[in-house]
Amino acid sequence: RFDALVVEEEAPGSFTRRIKSRSIDELPPGELLVKVRYSSLNYKDALSALGRPGVTKNYPHTPGIDAAGEVVSCSDGAFKSGEKVIVTGYDLGMNTPGGYGQYIRVPSAWGVRLPEGLSLKESMAIGTAGLTAGLSLQKLVQAGVRPEHGEILVTGATGGVGSVAVTLLAQAGYQVVAVTGKARETEFLTGLGARQVLNRDAFLQNSDRPLLKERWAGVIDVVGGPMLAAAIKSTGYGGVVTCCGLAGSAELPLNVFPFILRGVSLLGVDSAQAPSTVRNEVWQRLAGDWKPQRILEQVQEVPLAQLEQKFDAILKGELRGRTVVNLAPR
Ligand code: NAP
Repeated sequence: RFDALVVEEEAPGSFTRRIKSRSIDELPPGELLVKVRYSSLNYKDALSALGRPGVTKNYPHTPGIDAAGEVVSCSDGAFKSGEKVIVTGYDLGMNTPGGYGQYIRVPSAWGVRLPEGLSLKESMAIGTAGLTAGLSLQKLVQAGVRPEHGEILVTGATGGVGSVAVTLLAQAGYQVVAVTGKARETEFLTGLGARQVLNRDAFLQNSDRPLLKERWAGVIDVVGGPMLAAAIKSTGYGGVVTCCGLAGSAELPLNVFPFILRGVSLLGVDSAQAPSTVRNEVWQRLAGDWKPQRILEQVQEVPLAQLEQKFDAILKGELRGRTVVNLAPR
């Protein structure tokens, strides 16, 4: 038997979370059985844990879209027992019991061999948020955005995806401008490599004009809504904007002018279904020349029992950087 955080719907719309004892037999079928050592906290995990619509359809449920641990068994031979693996995205933690349990059982196609250069804990300090930041940087690079082209804006900069994005861009030689709602975290962001830190409210002021002064060669956005619209309207000629999140809003109040007058491109980023070749490639970079050392040094670690207080905080945008969850027995 093993421990797992179980979210239950006690009455319609009312959810509780408790650590419960589970049996491996209760896990869904799948080739790959993993003993989970670490998981992490992502925005989606909080949505699932608090019963917010759009992520988990059926409760009781164990969230955790990220898991890293050792292979117990793999029935199709894709992995050897004892091998270290990372599982992120797909349906893990959505409607498949996730990384907030000490065991997961999933299709072997969801597994990524832990790349050399990363420990299990480091892989979860990066997690889905870091993978998404990596995929966003990869999109900018593939679209031809180079450091000499000018400044890159990162929104939601102190959050999980944003803080890794700031770090990766700065390490790759880009001039990073970070926009944040947390003025108190300016030093944190300059420490990660941001050249300038902008205040969210100031950034949004007067941003409802059809076009804004051209500034960015590229943008990594995690916020959506008016923030993404303002970022696109202030992107320079031929610039590239990536969009991966909705921490602010799922709407996009925008016109077509940035696209038809400035040739700006808007590229979507998804980590959950990213093909395994792309996924493996980005994990290799994150373990090698892109390894976000400053993020790894500042990661917070919590045991499963102390996750509760973090769910509300991440949805309110109050957390800073990345949080790993230690699945060690209580
Ligand atoms: P997070 O740690 O909570 O970061 C989000 C950050 O956005 C917050 O820390 C805050 O940063 C900013 N923010 C929050 N509310 C805001 C608002 N109302 N207006 C403007 N800014 C706001 O969450 P995360 O794990 O990094 O995820 C960020 C987003 O990306 C989420 O929507 C998540 O679902 C999405 N995501 C998508 C993928 C994908 O594959 N597409 C993968 C991972 C995450 P500041 O205080 O610094 O402004």
